[in-house]
Amino acid sequence: MSFTVAIVGRPNVGKSTLFNRLVGRRVALVDDRPGVTRDRREGEARLGDLDFTVIDTAGFEQSGAETLSGRMRAQTETAIAQADAVFFVMDARAGALPDDRAFAALVRKSGKPAVLIANKMEGKAGESGRLDAYSLGLGEPVALSAEHNEGMPDLYDALREAL
Ligand code: GDP
Ligand code: MG
Repeated sequence: MSFTVAIVGRPNVGKSTLFNRLVGRRVALVDDRPGVTRDRREGEARLGDLDFTVIDTAGFEQSGAETLSGRMRAQTETAIAQADAVFFVMDARAGALPDDRAFAALVRKSGKPAVLIANKMEGKAGESGRLDAYSLGLGEPVALSAEHNEGMPDLYDALREAL
């Protein structure tokens, strides 16, 4: 089975860290034609025995404070449309913020199967934020630490269930 997962969420929640974790060195496509906006990357991901294409979204050229700009919204919608499933990442240490709700609404509107990820959960510092994540309307959050590679078996189970 070949499928595509889009990683979405507001800036700084750990999307690219998760992308790198899933892809390792197998980054396949970076479009570096002049004039093409490099605000998405695709790679070949592996999670357990699942191989799939993964899309990282948002802002690797932009810096500083971003909100849900029109460009980010459009990019997120495009990535979701091209995906079979969505990894929605929130920062459990920050809790569920208004921008998380805006991105979560896009995901819900798409009707695509989604896995809600409460990231930065190492050391349990995000426990109250993880509970907050239930309010995003995307089901039960998977506790993850993309940076410390914790929670991947739960992410695997949740993805299998979502597909
Ligand atoms: P993105 O903007 O959503 O792509 O987020 P990044 O992947 O660039 O990560 C934003 C910041 O969060 C960086 O400083 C990462 O090192 C940090 N980060 C990512 N994952 C984790 C995690 O699991 N735990 C902690 N404590 N920090 C993380
Ligand atoms: Mg990023």
